[in-house]
Amino acid sequence: MPGAMSAAEERAAMVERLAARGITDERVLAAMAEVPRERFVPADVAADAYADMPLPIGSDQTISAPWIVAFSIEVLGIGLAGTALEIGTGSGYAAAVLSRCCRTVVTVERHPGLAERARVVLAELGRDNVEVRTGDGTAGAPDCAPFDGIVVTAMAEDDVPAALLEQLAPDGTLVCPVGHKGSGSLVRHRAGRREDLLDVAFVPLVTGNPD
Ligand code: SAH
Repeated sequence: MPGAMSAAEERAAMVERLAARGITDERVLAAMAEVPRERFVPADVAADAYADMPLPIGSDQTISAPWIVAFSIEVLGIGLAGTALEIGTGSGYAAAVLSRCCRTVVTVERHPGLAERARVVLAELGRDNVEVRTGDGTAGAPDCAPFDGIVVTAMAEDDVPAALLEQLAPDGTLVCPVGHKGSGSLVRHRAGRREDLLDVAFVPLVTGNPD
């Protein structure tokens, strides 16, 4: 199609918009300039892969909009040597971005189909520092704890799951949307303090096995 942008051009334009909207962490911007977001979404919505909006990924779930992925990882403030835990793998996109900003990522997804798809794409892209687990992420990954950063990408009802706070390193940071029926605020726990960062809407964090 004449005039159509390549995926690389669309990514570069997305990164410019992220920077214009206040994302400053160079590692996050570099990671988002590298990860091919179109590989993480179904073919029928791939044309919108770089638009600033969430997209459906199957199993009634969504890949978060690029800005919220960038913001959540920026406010996590994890170092390149750090270990991260993500709850809610979904497409695997945020895990791919995070894996370029720290040493290792363990990510947990309750839907086996989504977890498997994410595993395949992450392996195809050579992200060998990411481990995708299938299960209820509210229990975290105690065998790999403590983590320098924990990011939850589904909304916890009323409070952050206690097991996740227990698996945070003493100087670590946890970022989790907390609210009611999918709308609430993005909460950050750091150095024993809790802050509300901004109002957000997320799919709910669900306990138990998928129906
Ligand atoms: N980070 C994802 C977006 C995730 S949407 C991405 O980049 O695509 C939130 C995901 O959390 C959904 O896939 C949903 O199935 C998952 N989820 C909800 N409750 C969960 C739980 N208790 N444990 C693990 N995953 C959960």
